[in-house]
Amino acid sequence: MSSITDPQPKGLPSVSARHIDPHSYPDGVAFLDGQYLPMPQAKISVLDWGFLHSDATYDTVHVWDGSFFRLDLHLDRFFASLQKLRMTIPFDRDGVSEILHNCVALSGHRAAYVEMLCTRGASSTFSRDPRQAINRFMAFAVPFGSVANAEQLRRGLHVAISDKVRIPPASIDPAIKNYHWLDLVRGLYDAYDRGGETALVLDFNGNVAEGPGFNVFCVKDGSLSTPAIGVLPGITRRTVFDLCAEAGLAATAVDVSVAALKAADEVFITSTAGGIMPVTMIDGMPIADGKVGPFTSRLMALYWQKHDDPAWSSPVRYP
Ligand code: PLP
Repeated sequence: MSSITDPQPKGLPSVSARHIDPHSYPDGVAFLDGQYLPMPQAKISVLDWGFLHSDATYDTVHVWDGSFFRLDLHLDRFFASLQKLRMTIPFDRDGVSEILHNCVALSGHRAAYVEMLCTRGASSTFSRDPRQAINRFMAFAVPFGSVANAEQLRRGLHVAISDKVRIPPASIDPAIKNYHWLDLVRGLYDAYDRGGETALVLDFNGNVAEGPGFNVFCVKDGSLSTPAIGVLPGITRRTVFDLCAEAGLAATAVDVSVAALKAADEVFITSTAGGIMPVTMIDGMPIADGKVGPFTSRLMALYWQKHDDPAWSSPVRYP
């Protein structure tokens, strides 16, 4: 294993800083072209198709209190995505797993956001034929981050529903985790313009789809539902289904209309970046009484308890 030669960058850039030092990066370790590197040194060519055409797939797993959460499911999804995109990497599941462990161990982080990704890569001739490109695998571990901050987790997020339509499954299979985010980013700007903190976008039938980096659930009369189509089958979404099965709660994947979401008793979003996060306001109107509801609170507690369960959690191999 290569060693890290340069000092780690110190601390995180302030999100409120208007001029972010381009040489400042989150404190972490990346694996790129066979080497482990501090984040500022993990750079790829501008000719990489991942950059030029969003031709890439990735997966993100988190480490909490020194353990990966549901790493096997993230590896399953990543390798399935690679296969669907006809990308090959010189590592099998155990090889990728070892690289992820090494990135986290070298970073020293006990709570980390850990990403594995593969771009189409580039060819020496700048060929337009994707088959000529050498696919490039990368990974990195940086400090854990959440869609919702501490205050939002306590009082619930304020969401705005954008009329932007998520890229339809006929164009891109949403099960391939991808960086086609222009719809989501445009949705975010719509939300900010309307006083929202984050956004939900629609599916091609006008129902609710998902948001930038998260799935959504609603609770009505004790039953949970989440959009069925046009969304990434999130691992946290799957975890909610698993928790509901264990707790004897009804949960289904169905069409969720905007009206149904707004009339729900409770709404929450799910992501590896933050887990289960309450939503208490949509388009400026409170959901029910505007407070975090009992189903959401219970599932949030169960979700974090499961991080101590060896069936779902695997310790990082720190030195
Ligand atoms: N939907 C989109 C578009 C995402 O990018 C993500 C995660 O990044 C999710 C949903 C949530 O998926 P997961 O729970 O696997 O993090």
